[in-house]
Formats: sequence, C-alpha cells, structure tokens
Amino acid sequence: MTTASGGSIARRLRSAVDVLPPRTRDRIGELAQRAQSAVRAAPTDGLDPPVAPEPPRPTRKTSRRSWVRRANIVMYHRIASDPDDPYSLCVTPERFAEHLRVLSARAEVVSLDEIRRPGQDPTVAVTFDDGYADNLFDALPVAERFGVPITVFVTSRMVESPTGFWWDRLARALLRPDRMDLSVPLPGGPMPVATGTDAAARATLAELRMRLLPLPVEQINTVVAQVCNDAGSDETEGPRVLTNEELRTLADHPLVTIGAHSTDHPLLRAQPPTSQLETIAASKADLESALGVEVRHFAYPFGHRASFDRRTMDAVRQCGFATACSTLRGCVTRWSDPLCLPRRMVMDWGAETFGAALESWGIP
Ligand SMILES: [Zn+2]
Repeated sequence: MTTASGGSIARRLRSAVDVLPPRTRDRIGELAQRAQSAVRAAPTDGLDPPVAPEPPRPTRKTSRRSWVRRANIVMYHRIASDPDDPYSLCVTPERFAEHLRVLSARAEVVSLDEIRRPGQDPTVAVTFDDGYADNLFDALPVAERFGVPITVFVTSRMVESPTGFWWDRLARALLRPDRMDLSVPLPGGPMPVATGTDAAARATLAELRMRLLPLPVEQINTVVAQVCNDAGSDETEGPRVLTNEELRTLADHPLVTIGAHSTDHPLLRAQPPTSQLETIAASKADLESALGVEVRHFAYPFGHRASFDRRTMDAVRQCGFATACSTLRGCVTRWSDPLCLPRRMVMDWGAETFGAALESWGIP
C-alpha cells in the first residue's frame, strides 16, 4: 500500500477532473465550493446576534493559478459610532478605515460587477445593506480615501422615510430605562412584554423581532407603531435613512454602485410568490427611474437560508438582475450561482481581528 502527498493527490485530481464532461466538472466544482464554504465559516449572518469570529486557521498559499479562484464579498450595514447597537450593525468610521487599509494591502478590491470575472486572487467586493444615510456621510469618504468601490443595496421605498426601519424603532421603544408592561397584538395571540431589566428588555426585543419577521411589513409597522405609542417612544429619533437627494449624490459617485434590496425589506420567503415578485420588481423600477441607470444587483433582505428560496431566486431572475447576494457564508468561485452569492458579515472589529477573519476567508 502506498500513500501520496496532498500536493500529488490534488494534481492527480485536477488532471482526472479536466477530462470529465462539463456538467460533471461543474457538479464537482459545486461540491468543492460547498466543502470549502463549510470549513471557512464567517462570524455571523444578517441580523443574527453577534458571534465572535473563528480564530485564524492555517491557509493554503493562494496564487493567480489557484484551481478554485477565491473571491469574497464583505457586508456592512452602518458606519456609525452608535452607543447602543443591539443588532451589531455599526462599524465606527475609524475601524472602517482600518478595515479598508488592511483589505487594500492584502487583496484586490473590486466592484460587484467584477467579482466573478477572471483575475488576480484574492479579490474582494465591499457592500452595504439597507440604505442608511451614514453610507453617504461616513462610509463614502473613507472608501474615497482608499479608492475602494462600494455597492449600496437600497430598500427603495424606505428612501426619505421619516421613521426609518421598524427594527430600529422597536429597539428604541423597548430598550428604554423605564419599566413597561404591554400586551402586543400578534396573529398567534397577544404577546406580553415586560422590560424590568436591561437583560429582560433585550430578550423581549429578540423574541418580538423573531415573531414579527414573517409578517407583511405593513402589518409589522402597525404593531411597532402601537408599541412605540404605548412606550411613549418618538418614532422619528433613530438611525436616519437616505433621502432622495442623498441617494442621487451617492449614486453619482464613480466609486458607488446602487443595488436593490426590495421595496420595504420583507422576509421574502414568508410572503406569497406574487408579493415577492412585486417587491423585487418594484425596487428595481423605483431605483432605475430615480437614478436613470440600470440596477443590476439585488440583495435578499436578511439573506439567510430561511429568508429566500427557489421561488424568490426565480423572481430575481425574471426581473433581469445579474447577481443576487445572500448572507450565506462562503467564497465566491466560478461555480457560484450568480443569484445566490455568499457574503461575509463584518462587525466592529479592530485591525487584528479583521485581519484574522480575512485569513480564515482565504486572504492571508
Ligand atoms: Zn437588509
């Protein structure tokens, strides 16, 4: 019995795969990509609670001749120094600058249009979800300083909203210092809400958010308005979203690509297929008519496995988008489905932690 070294096995596998029919090669490529994604785990998905990044792992040296070319799409939401950030959506401007400094030194940072094109390895694209105003005022100046292209996925009918996103309003209402006892009307029956301590308030926020998520956004807004009213919370005092003028300024910048993120940020998979198609198509139409450019990229709201399915992807394809980003973890390879691109959520990490995360994503 003989054994072969890892390098020799890889070489033999490559030559064996090269002679297979294209469909079989693609299938093997998909499996290789899945296995790769499974071992290179990212810190967290979407609006899930924060999880510490995995410690750095030894990585294979990458080169432009890698068998599986690796690219990564990183995801931010807000660049802000918010003292209370219950969903871990904020990265401070100072840390964002550190991230871009490290990224620019280690990888080729490209636009989303270029992420699947053949080129140097490693490659990274930087994206923002939702359409917060700080993307213009606090993210863009840093991106400009490093010459880094960014894609901003905008929730089209939240532009110019005086009250912002419902999850921010809900957090402000529930995380108040004064104790409250409410009964929140929900389809499955009323939910008692008691916020005696900070820990109880945060647990209540997490549970109520989970129960609201599958509902149509109009219905969520009604419930959240009632909670804000009962709690005496001002609905207009939260993180601000872009205005129409700010969106145009952002879109006019040569480093910026605007993508769509639905009209009102529903959990798409929980909605009927016709509603899914409507909100996806309308977000593209809204942004194209406001900006006068083609909107080629989409990001699934929330983006995790339970937030979209094959019907959602069919709707995105039908609307003519070139790519759609999820928050599933993994690298982008030439075998990645363009309508289900994985991403890496970045949190408010210092340069050392960010560098370790990059290493675990194959960017040494
Ligand atoms: Zn979002």
